[in-house]
Amino acid sequence: MNRVLVNGAGGFIGGHLVKRLKREGFWVRAADLKRHEYAPSPADEFVVGDLRDPDVVAEVVRGIDTVYQLAADMGGAGYIFSGEHDADVMHNSATINLNTLEYGTRAGVRRFFYSSSACIYPEYNQRDPDNPKCSEESAYPAAPDSEYGWEKLFSERLYLAYQRNYNVEVRVARFHNIFGPEGTWTGGKEKAPAAMCRKVAEAMDGGEIEIWGDGQQTRSFLYVDECVEAIQRLMASEFSGPVNIGSQEMITINGLAQLVMDIAGKDLRIRHIPGPLGVRGRNSDNQLISARLGWAPSRPLREGLEKTYEWVAEQQEALSAMSLAGAS
Ligand code: NAD
Repeated sequence: MNRVLVNGAGGFIGGHLVKRLKREGFWVRAADLKRHEYAPSPADEFVVGDLRDPDVVAEVVRGIDTVYQLAADMGGAGYIFSGEHDADVMHNSATINLNTLEYGTRAGVRRFFYSSSACIYPEYNQRDPDNPKCSEESAYPAAPDSEYGWEKLFSERLYLAYQRNYNVEVRVARFHNIFGPEGTWTGGKEKAPAAMCRKVAEAMDGGEIEIWGDGQQTRSFLYVDECVEAIQRLMASEFSGPVNIGSQEMITINGLAQLVMDIAGKDLRIRHIPGPLGVRGRNSDNQLISARLGWAPSRPLREGLEKTYEWVAEQQEALSAMSLAGAS
């Protein structure tokens, strides 16, 4: 049987990926600094360990055929654009990738999946919110707007170099804003869709929510099940990438807020405040993945947001009930 390791399995996408791999019949070892916070893991083994530690990595890759490397020191704009975590983000994620490739290759791993990011794309191509350019070849000349993006670009190259020099197969995907239930929704590392759902869930009807910037910046968002489907298609293919995995349904952040309010049935005022923003516009370009893998998202943004809002609202209610109980 194909024995699989998922690094970052205690996280959002890794957690969903483990479920999918188990449904497909794989034997799965999961590795993460922490167990999954929101759902029990169906992995055959769950190793709680630090993948910056070479001894831990040498241990978890033993007997493994395929590695999915999703572990990274990351978060939403509030985490990666504040500048306060740059050294940790670069050091921690690069060390995980260096260890995974080095010890994985030595242990006889045949295939690696690496989760890169849309954050590798040059800032100079993403100034016009209506016409961002994120086709795969536009990555160079490189000019990511965050150190998180620079580390991802370095690691993409590292995986491709191991493929050239060490006779292993790699698959590299550039994720564009993946969202859904069972992901970080509070605490400072959450990303825009989860943060928006939380703000709307917390607000009283007729009240107010805060949005960083003027809300005119554009993004696209991909539901996590679609992301996992695309990962599996890439792994089953002969194509190494790098390739975008994202949605082309671009929306402004104000539009996203409105959509979540509609789903929640709440009418709220938006107050724009200063905050870390990232590029002015970003959208996935799916021409390459469509041509090579015949893949495109199957459902509209609204559908995924409905499921995400329902889950975040439940979490928020449970948390408020707990703090009320604690206060009484
Ligand atoms: P996540 O933060 O939920 O998961 C990452 C996991 O890595 C966490 O559970 C964390 O504990 C683990 N980790 C971090 N440092 C570790 C260490 N030293 N040892 C062991 N585990 C460690 O993030 P996610 O949203 O599931 O993202 C998964 C991957 O996809 C990441 O590499 C991320 O950079 C990439 N990505 C995600 C998005 C997105 O929109 N979610 C977009 C682009 C790229």
